[in-house]
Amino acid sequence: YLELQGIRKQFGNTNVLNHVDLQIREGELVTLLGPSGCGKSTLLRCIAGLTEIDGGQILLEQKDIVNLAPRNREIGMVFQSYALFPNLTVAENIQYGMKMRGASKGERRNRSEELLALIDLEDKRDAYPQHLSGGQQQRVALARSLAVQPKVLLLDEPLSALDAKIRKNLRTEIRDIQKKFNMTTIFVTHDQEEALILSDRVCLMNKGSIVQQGTPEELYTTPRTEFVARFMGSYN
Ligand code: ATP
Ligand code: MG
Repeated sequence: YLELQGIRKQFGNTNVLNHVDLQIREGELVTLLGPSGCGKSTLLRCIAGLTEIDGGQILLEQKDIVNLAPRNREIGMVFQSYALFPNLTVAENIQYGMKMRGASKGERRNRSEELLALIDLEDKRDAYPQHLSGGQQQRVALARSLAVQPKVLLLDEPLSALDAKIRKNLRTEIRDIQKKFNMTTIFVTHDQEEALILSDRVCLMNKGSIVQQGTPEELYTTPRTEFVARFMGSYN
């Protein structure tokens, strides 16, 4: 469904991504896990088209999307910082992308009401982002990316700015929404517990490469290197 082949990226003389290969099935939730600076955000930005790649192919349903502008890639992205438009209400934030794509007012309203119900924020439709909690803002950011019905959803540490309790609630919420929409999702985190709980498959990255991928159980019980064992917490 989504296929990365030999993705390379350099910043200056540093190889940030070294021939990354990754295949994701439709409806699968894959987590990219790895230490700070290993290239997780860069990889997502390359997929979304926010960062240009130096080599490789990105195929979505067999079509190479590398030369498409970000807004034509049918890929939604949610960042660590919520980055909602502060001067737009919750409903307007959710409808923004649909408006850009020329959806009618009625269509936009129906879709945003549907999403507001999904994230349980119907009573906040006319509120501005500054009056929402961090968890609520992040749910709006999620609804905003789902509004344009992307083929792939990229989540870059969407929970890391939240406190522990809200983070735990929201991660099951995200999982439920992901399953409900059968949304193909890449979820970036450096929290191995989060990865173990959420993923169909975990890809552990180090220094710009995927060092091992498999089900959460596989990575935990049969790490191929000491790095994997240490990172997954199965090393004693
Ligand atoms: P974290 O867990 O801290 O978010 P990450 O795995 O997302 O880390 P990236 O943000 O992808 O890491 O960064 C990978 C490497 O690329 C880092 O060494 C970073 O300093 C470098 N890098 C990222 N963006 C740029 C940029 N625009 N210019 C130069 N170097 C960059
Ligand atoms: Mg990052």
